[in-house]
Amino acid sequence: MTPHVASQKNVYRFIAGKADGHGAMKDLLGGKGAGLAEMTAAGLPVPPGFTITTAVCHRYYAAGNQLPADVWEESCAALREVEAAVGKTFGDATNPLLVSVRSGAKFSMPGMMDTVLNLGLNHTTAQGLIQQTNNERFARDAHRRFIQMFGRIVLGVPGERFDHALETLKAERGIRQDIELTAADLQQLVAQFEAIVERETGNPFPYDPYEQLRLAICAVFNSWYGKRAVDYRRLNKIPDDLGTAVNVVAMVFGNMGDDSGTGVAFTRNPSTGEPVLFGEYLPNAQGEDVVAGIRTPQKLEALRETMPDVYAQFCEVAARLERHYRDAQDLEFTIERGKLWMLQTRNAKRTGAAAVKIAVDLVQEGIISPEEAVLRVEPNHLDQLLHPMVDPKADITLLGKGLPASPGAAAGAVVFDPDVAEKRAQSGERVILVRAETSPEDFHGMVAAQGILTARGGLTSHAAVVARGMGKPCIAGCGELILDATGMRLGGQTLAEGDFITLDGTTGRILLGDVPLVSPEIGAEFETFMRWVDDARKMRVRTNADTPHDARVARSFGAEGIGLCRTEHMFFEGERIDSVRQMIMVSGTYQRLIAALDKVAGDLERLRGDAQKVSALEAERAALEAELETPARLFRGALEALLPMQRADFVGIFEAMDGFPVTIRLLDPPLHEFLPHTDEEIAALAAKLNLSVQDVQSRVAALREHNPMLGHRGCRLGIAYPEITEMQVRAIFEAAVEVARRGITVLPEVMIPLVGDVNELRAQEAIVRRVADEVQQAAGVMIPYLVGTMIELPRAALTADKIATVAEFFSFGTNDLTQTTFGFSRDDAGTFLPMYVERKILADDPFQVLDREGVGELLRIGTQKGRAARPTLKVGICGEHGGEPSSVAFCHELGFDYVSCSPYRVPIARLAAAQAALRQPRA
Ligand code: PEP
Ligand code: MG
Repeated sequence: MTPHVASQKNVYRFIAGKADGHGAMKDLLGGKGAGLAEMTAAGLPVPPGFTITTAVCHRYYAAGNQLPADVWEESCAALREVEAAVGKTFGDATNPLLVSVRSGAKFSMPGMMDTVLNLGLNHTTAQGLIQQTNNERFARDAHRRFIQMFGRIVLGVPGERFDHALETLKAERGIRQDIELTAADLQQLVAQFEAIVERETGNPFPYDPYEQLRLAICAVFNSWYGKRAVDYRRLNKIPDDLGTAVNVVAMVFGNMGDDSGTGVAFTRNPSTGEPVLFGEYLPNAQGEDVVAGIRTPQKLEALRETMPDVYAQFCEVAARLERHYRDAQDLEFTIERGKLWMLQTRNAKRTGAAAVKIAVDLVQEGIISPEEAVLRVEPNHLDQLLHPMVDPKADITLLGKGLPASPGAAAGAVVFDPDVAEKRAQSGERVILVRAETSPEDFHGMVAAQGILTARGGLTSHAAVVARGMGKPCIAGCGELILDATGMRLGGQTLAEGDFITLDGTTGRILLGDVPLVSPEIGAEFETFMRWVDDARKMRVRTNADTPHDARVARSFGAEGIGLCRTEHMFFEGERIDSVRQMIMVSGTYQRLIAALDKVAGDLERLRGDAQKVSALEAERAALEAELETPARLFRGALEALLPMQRADFVGIFEAMDGFPVTIRLLDPPLHEFLPHTDEEIAALAAKLNLSVQDVQSRVAALREHNPMLGHRGCRLGIAYPEITEMQVRAIFEAAVEVARRGITVLPEVMIPLVGDVNELRAQEAIVRRVADEVQQAAGVMIPYLVGTMIELPRAALTADKIATVAEFFSFGTNDLTQTTFGFSRDDAGTFLPMYVERKILADDPFQVLDREGVGELLRIGTQKGRAARPTLKVGICGEHGGEPSSVAFCHELGFDYVSCSPYRVPIARLAAAQAALRQPRA
C-alpha cells in the first residue's frame, strides 16, 4: 500500500460538539468517521469518540500488522477525553465506559468489514455496568454478546460454537426467544463462552479492556483484506489501497428496555425515490440485530406512537442532514432510555429508478442544479431502469409474498447454498439464492445469483441492502417460507434444489416456475433527467443494430443514428444462408476460371501477330467460357437472390433512422463461418445444391483457416470477391433511393472493415463510388453519402494520415483493435483473462473496459493523424467499449464525434458522455 495522504495526526476526535475533522475528509477518516465529525460539529446528538485514520491503516500494514506506538498513545489520550465527556471511565469497576470499534472506509462497504460492540467488559466492569444501569439482565446480556462478537471477529472462534451453546441452553430451559433468558442464564453463558474461547484459542479471554481495544483495532484493520471485503471491492471497483479507518465510539444502548431501541432510516425511499422518510426500528435491541436481519423490525412510523417527541426530533435531524449534504441520507440511530443518538449518516445507496427520481426531485426542490443531477446517477445504474419485469400477461402461480426489497424480476433454479449458487452460475445456469437470512459470508453466492429470497429480515437487512446495490431483485422477510434439509416449502409446494421460481422484487411476489419477463416502462422523471443529460453531452450516441427492429428499439432509447450495421448478420437469417452457401461453394471455381480467362486475354493481346497461337488461345478461351457458364450463373444467381433481401433490410433501417446517419459495414467474417461443419450438415448441403459430398467437403477444407480472426475476412473478402461489395453497395443505394423518394432523409455511410493499408481502402472505395454513382444516375436521385473505414488494426491507426486521405470517417473497432494490440484472441482470451484480472496483471478485462494506455494510445494517434490529414474527418467508436462508461469518457476526452453501442446501453452511453462533458470540458 502507498499512503494517499501524508498526515501527522493519527487520531481525529469528535467530542461534545467539537470535531477535529469534517465531512469532506472521507479519504482520511472514511465515510463513517467524516460523517460523525460533520454531525458532531453541526451540533447533532452524536456519542463521543475518535477516528484512527486510513493513513494509520497503511502504516499498520507497512509495519507487518503492528499498531504503531504513537497511534496507541494518541488513541489512549483521546479515550481520556471521551471518558471526561461522558463521565465514565474505561475499565472502571463502578462506572465503566464501554466503546464500539467499527471500520469505515472512504466508500461504504456495508457489512463487509468488522465491528465490535460493548468493548471494555470483563467480570469487574460487568459489575460496574450492573450498578450503572441497575439492570443485571441487561449487563449480563451485554457481556455475553461482547464475548461472542469479540471471540468471533477478533479471535477467530467459529460463531457456531457460541450459537450452539446458546441454543442448547434455550432448549434446556424450554424457551424459544433469547429475551426469555434470565440474568443467571446469561451469566452462565458468559462462563461457557469464555471456556469456548479458551478451548478454541488456547488462551483465556483477554481481561484487560486496553488489551481488548488494541486487539479490536488491529482486527478492524485486518478485516480490510478479509475475503468478503476483497470480493466486494473487486465487484464494485473500489481500489485496494484506500485502506479503512477505525472508529472508537462511546457505547449507547438500544437494548435497555422499551424506551430504547435502534433503527436505520433513509430520508427518501431508496427503492422508488419517493420523498418520504423511510425506515425500520427495533425496540429494545442493539444495532447489529437490525443489520443482520435476525429479527423483523417495525416500520419507523411506529415510533410516532410510542415516543412522539423522539420521532419528531428524528424527523427534524433527518431533514437537517439531507439539507446539509444536499442528498438523500442513510441514517443509523439508537435511542437509549428515551434519548436519541445519531450513529451514522451517509449518502444513501439507491436503485437506479430511485437515483433518477431523487436527482430530479432535488432539482425541482431547488437544492441542486440539473448539471449536479446528471452527475448524481451512475451510468450503469440506468441498466436497472431497463430491467425486465414479470410479463403482466403471463400465467402465474403465486407461491407467496415477502418484502419487496430490491426491484426487478428474475427467474432461476433455487439453490440454498452460496457455494452451490456460485458453481451452478459458473456453468451458465440462472439461479435464485434462497436463504433464511443472508450474511456477508454469502456474498459470493449473491453475486452469482439472479435474485435473492430470504425468509427473515427487513428492507434494510443485509440481503436487501446488498441486492439493491447490485441491482438484483430481492425479496426479504418471507415469513411463510420454510427451509429444511429437503429444500423449501412455500404456498403448499415443496421445491428442491434446481426447481424454478421467479422473483418479482418490485412487488415482493414469489412465483412458481420460469415466468416470462418483459422490459419495463420508463417514468416521467426519466424523460426529464435524460433531457438534462442530452443538454450536457458533447458526443453523439449511436447504436449498433442490424435489423429494423433493433434500430427502432435503439431510437426509442435515444440513439441518434447507427454506428455499426453488421451486414453479415443479415446473411444468417432464414433461407438467406442457402444463397450465401451457394455463392461460397462456386466462388472458388468461378474465380479460378475468371483468372484463367484474364490470362488468356492478356496472352492474346501480347501475341496478336502470331496467327497460330492466337487460334489456339481463342479455342482455349471458348472452352473456359463454356466451363464458366454454370459457376457464373450460380455465383451471380446467389448474389442476385441476396440483393433484394439486403435491400429490404436497409429500407427498414433507413426508415427507422429517418434523419440520422446509418453506417453500414460491408461483409466482414471469414467465409467458412457460413459453411456446414458436421457430416450430416455437409451431406444436406450437397443434396440441396446438387453437388457431391466430396465437392462440399473439399471446399470446406479449402476455406478452413488456422486463425480466422486474422484470416481472409474484412475488406480482404471484398478485394477477393468484388462482386460481393458491388452487390452490397447496390442494395444500400437502391434502398436509399427508394426511401428518399418517399421523403425520408437518408444519410448512408459505407464502412470498409479491417483495413490495414490505404490501398485496401482505395480499391474498395473505387467500387463503392462506382456502384453508388450508377444507382443514383439510373434513378435520377442523389443521396448524400460518405465512405469511410473501421480502424481496428494497429497499422491502420499508425498510418491514419494516409488512410484519411481516402476515408471520410473513422470508426474505431476496438474489439479487433484490442485483440490485435494485445495479441489476445477474442475467442479464447476468456480462458485466462479472469485470472489476469484476479492477479491484478491487468486492472480490467480489456475487452470490457478500454485499455487507455495501449489501445487508447492507438485511438489517440489515429484520431490526431487522421484529423491532421482531413480536418472534417468524423470519428467514432463501435466496439463493445462504446457502451462502457469509463471508455465513453475516454472517447470524449479524445474529442470523438460519437460513440455507438448496443440498443439497451444507449441511455448508459448518453449519461456517461454527459458526465464526461461536465467533468472535463474539452477544447
Ligand atoms: C470491432 O472489431 O470492434 C467491431 C465493432 O467489429 P466486430 O466486433 O464485428 O469485429
Ligand atoms: Mg471488427
